[in-house]
Amino acid sequence: MSKIKNIVVLTGAGISAESGIRTFRDTGGLWEDHSIEEVATPQGYADNPELVLGFYNARRAQLSKVEPNAAHIALAKLEAGLMERGGLLTIVTQNVDDLHERGGAKNIIHMHGELLSQWCRVCDRKFKSAEAFTLQSQCPKCESIGKVRPDIVWFGEMPYFMDTIEAHIQNCDLFVSIGTSGAVYPAAGYVQVARGLGKQTLEINLEPSEGSYLFHESRLGKAGEMVPAWVDEILGLL
Ligand code: NAD
Ligand code: ZN
Repeated sequence: MSKIKNIVVLTGAGISAESGIRTFRDTGGLWEDHSIEEVATPQGYADNPELVLGFYNARRAQLSKVEPNAAHIALAKLEAGLMERGGLLTIVTQNVDDLHERGGAKNIIHMHGELLSQWCRVCDRKFKSAEAFTLQSQCPKCESIGKVRPDIVWFGEMPYFMDTIEAHIQNCDLFVSIGTSGAVYPAAGYVQVARGLGKQTLEINLEPSEGSYLFHESRLGKAGEMVPAWVDEILGLL
């Protein structure tokens, strides 16, 4: 453990649960009472764009009512601690919320997109916005109307930054998965990538994830308690 310098942390909805954002699987595969097919697939968007835009508008509005929790804040502390020692923390998140950023972390990869980002299908540009979007919303870049969609990677679409993520796993000494059910690929497969490269692996989750057996160690409990304790352990050990 004393040689740990570079760490990749993969996070999922479980790390934001204690902030009051409901996870996916914990509510029987529904996300805020909607099915995945309805609100998180390209087909769902094609079938009912108003519903999907409304769903993401509501998720975006919810961000101003929630705060980062002790787990998000502890990861920012780990990032600063590793940096002081010439190391690097890379947070690869499946979450579309902004709680890692607001917890103080800097090096964050949003592999499934961001609630606060929008994507214009005409000019292909992305832009940050906290506003609600409608079918009449205008792209601030090319001024096209009605062609802006949430910058969210839906089921059936390719996650972002996959090459960068694999390069970070290649360069890490420890791969840690926090608050993710291990059901959504390719994120669920990163533990196997890490194992294949001979990396140490740790899981922190409320319950064993689907790929729990693939980790060297599995710590079960709430992220808000387990993550700060683990971070103090790592920083004390370095
Ligand atoms: P998931 O809902 O499938 O799994 C969440 C996991 O977190 C479960 O294994 C659960 O046991 C665990 N968990 C619940 N509370 C916890 C706590 N307090 N501490 C530690 N672990 C806890 O989520 P996922 O694996 O991220 O995959 C689902 C997809 O849904 C992702 O692609 C994500 O983009 C999307 N999603 C995102 C958010 C968000 O941005 N906050 C919320 C819901 C869904
Ligand atoms: Zn545009």
